[in-house]
Amino acid sequence: MNIGFIGLGTMGEPMATRLVQAGLTLTVFDLNSDAVNRLAALGAHRAESAADVASKAEIVFVSLPTPEIVQKVALGEKGVIEGSKVRIYIDLSTTGPRVAKLVASQLAEQKIVALDCPVSGGAAGAAKGTLALMVSGPSTAFDEIAHSLRILGKAIYCGEGAGLGQTMKLVNNLVSVTALAVSSEALVMGVKAGLAPKVMLDVFNAGSGRNSATVDKLPRAVLPRTFDFGFSTALSLKDTRLCLDEAEAMGIPMPVGSAVRQMLNMTRAAYGDSADFTRMVCVLEQWAGIEVPLVSEI
Ligand code: NAD
Repeated sequence: MNIGFIGLGTMGEPMATRLVQAGLTLTVFDLNSDAVNRLAALGAHRAESAADVASKAEIVFVSLPTPEIVQKVALGEKGVIEGSKVRIYIDLSTTGPRVAKLVASQLAEQKIVALDCPVSGGAAGAAKGTLALMVSGPSTAFDEIAHSLRILGKAIYCGEGAGLGQTMKLVNNLVSVTALAVSSEALVMGVKAGLAPKVMLDVFNAGSGRNSATVDKLPRAVLPRTFDFGFSTALSLKDTRLCLDEAEAMGIPMPVGSAVRQMLNMTRAAYGDSADFTRMVCVLEQWAGIEVPLVSEI
């Protein structure tokens, strides 16, 4: 069976690479011809547009940066919706439930089944095949693509409803970035008071303060002062904004999430869109008038 893959960026390229290397027949498209060339060198076929991919492949994955681009690639001119062969469309991007529902309902009119499948685990997880995949949509379509998903990581089925996988992804990322923000505040305060950063992480991780920032993000990207965890401030801000907009539309105030959104806005203002989101520690350092000392051996 021919599989299509549109969007060969930080996440899409390693995922598409794994699918090709597992022996699947892949047809790919991206606006970036260098990424397409790298996949073609591994044996993937090239396509001229998203519609061209969807006229060659029955199953089409997309991994695209923003909800607006997902909507355009799925439903716009030369989009997936114009493909003659596609039966199942799988969105690996973080798109949010509203666009996911819109895309699913319009594709259904062309008898194309849509599955939400946002991922967690970063570029490293994409390369290793250890992503968490949050899938929702018709379970028969999920069963049909389960083999391909196993090549990418662990798929967790979140329900039949369009957008449920996307909602799961947004709340997961809200928890993750909130843990980073509050752990960064705690780290900066502790250092200013005289605690060693390594001692602080040892205590957090042996105690009740343990979380994904203390276990992974701070030791890997902040204490060595590399700020290269691999997730940009712009993408984290996009996810947080999507989550808060959705909560607001549902009538649910999220005061903690709103504060974290402002931390990301301040990090972006100081360091730019492409700065790693672990840079938020540096914003706090400026307020505190200290710098967390470099720890190279953890
Ligand atoms: P990226 O910007 O690195 O890659 C996006 C790719 O899409 C690029 O190669 C770009 O050329 C291509 N593209 C853009 N518009 C296109 C179009 N109209 N037609 C074809 N190709 C087009 O983004 P990424 O980091 O790979 O993220 C992809 C998605 O995965 C996003 O929704 C992101 O939120 C989500 N995500 C990212 C991470 C991460 O760590 N980077 C982790 C989990 C989820």
